[in-house]
Amino acid sequence: MSDMERLLRGGLSALGLPPDAAEAMARYGRMLLERNRVMNLTAITSEADVARLHFLDSCALAAFADFRGKSVVDVGTGAGFPGLPLRLVEPSMRLTLLDAQRKRVDFLRDVCAALELPDVTAIQGRAEECAAEYREAFDIAVSRAVAGLPVLAELCMPLVRVGGEFLAMKSANCDEELSSAKRAVATLGGEAAQVAEYAIPGTDVPRRLIIIKKTRPTPPGYPRTFAKIKKKPL
Ligand code: SAH
Repeated sequence: MSDMERLLRGGLSALGLPPDAAEAMARYGRMLLERNRVMNLTAITSEADVARLHFLDSCALAAFADFRGKSVVDVGTGAGFPGLPLRLVEPSMRLTLLDAQRKRVDFLRDVCAALELPDVTAIQGRAEECAAEYREAFDIAVSRAVAGLPVLAELCMPLVRVGGEFLAMKSANCDEELSSAKRAVATLGGEAAQVAEYAIPGTDVPRRLIIIKKTRPTPPGYPRTFAKIKKKPL
């Protein structure tokens, strides 16, 4: 067993998740590091950091939401985080990975083929442009490291069905972001955010998860074009 797999097993057990998923994660992690030599997928380059900061950070979400049987979209998934590790610990979820960059989506398709995950869908596109086709189509939207919360809410909330939720992974110091997003969240059909705090397993890196329940439909007219979202965040 590789060091990465051993680290992942320990972390998954600590999270109360099935440690057997570590084998597929270690394989995925090796593919990530290998492909990262020829294209920019991640700034994280050691196996231990990939295990903790990508995989275990992603899996930590499983403690805060019930993904069983849910349709989930990961907006701006990059190399697959947090969506794909979550799918590996919760096989009943129906996962759609969404990213604007073609080369990242190509990588994700290669990973899904290697890990034999034919039910995972990887789409190349911008979230605000996909909203016409996938409006209120998902139970849950997740996202990490894509944009500040007021902008991110407009990218993600239109994709979530009423009764579903939007989960944004943030660093510990996101108070300002959170208060500046209140109006955006309310406008887009969300309830006041709940905040969960955790440390990345095996580290003392503090993280926050912003949990926003969608209680009303997103009004027509949102999302706007990205130029407008960026210029005048809600
Ligand atoms: N979620 C991953 C990647 C973060 S990097 C992680 O945490 O490791 C941000 C990613 O978001 C990039 O891959 C970029 O292509 C994508 N992105 C940025 N804006 C987007 C948009 N409007 N729609 C879809 N993807 C977007």
